[in-house]
Amino acid sequence: MEIKVVKDILGANEQIAQKNRQLFDSNHVLAVNLMSSPGAGKTSLILETIKRLKGKTRVGVVEGDISSSLDAEAIGKEGVPVVQINTGGECHLDANMTSTALGSVPLKDVDLLLIENVGNLVCPAEFALGEHKKILISSTPEGDDKPFKYPLMFHEADVVLINKIDLLPYLKFNTDAFSRAIKGINQKVEIFPISCTTGEGIEKWVSWLLTQMSRRQS
Ligand code: MG
Ligand code: ZN
Repeated sequence: MEIKVVKDILGANEQIAQKNRQLFDSNHVLAVNLMSSPGAGKTSLILETIKRLKGKTRVGVVEGDISSSLDAEAIGKEGVPVVQINTGGECHLDANMTSTALGSVPLKDVDLLLIENVGNLVCPAEFALGEHKKILISSTPEGDDKPFKYPLMFHEADVVLINKIDLLPYLKFNTDAFSRAIKGINQKVEIFPISCTTGEGIEKWVSWLLTQMSRRQS
């Protein structure tokens, strides 16, 4: 009984996600869903990405948070359109919340939409939003055992960003073992080590984004 209810919820979500996708496609928008545990660096990554794409592409942001608009305010200072979703306690974004938010995003004036999901490594992996790519940010202080603990999230990701590599000298984090564990779950995933603090690796991530955008436009 319970399994059927979950299937119905995910089925209804999938239908709305497909409508969101059509809206992105008809407006030539690349939409990416940024997921991570709390504090892994989603907002910092968005800020770094916006800075590097200024003058190259038009970015819009959807900010998902359980409450507060602190992250949205920080992003709004960069001068890009940002729409806040407060989930009111829900621990993930779903397609319906995203659809409501999209009503306030000027999609015609956006080439890249960054959707910051709620900080959580579990259910965001199950709810499609209509995005083209799923990005997982996993930071070094969280430990290198996360692929074993949250395999669905690592399985669903198109890209894993290993953030906070500037802290590696102080941590027992084995980047090779971590990458091997991810590849064991997901062979097609791309992995980029980055630091939003020092800027290391961010250029590679940004050029990956630009490549995805040019592929979609051609
Ligand atoms: Mg944030
Ligand atoms: Zn949830």
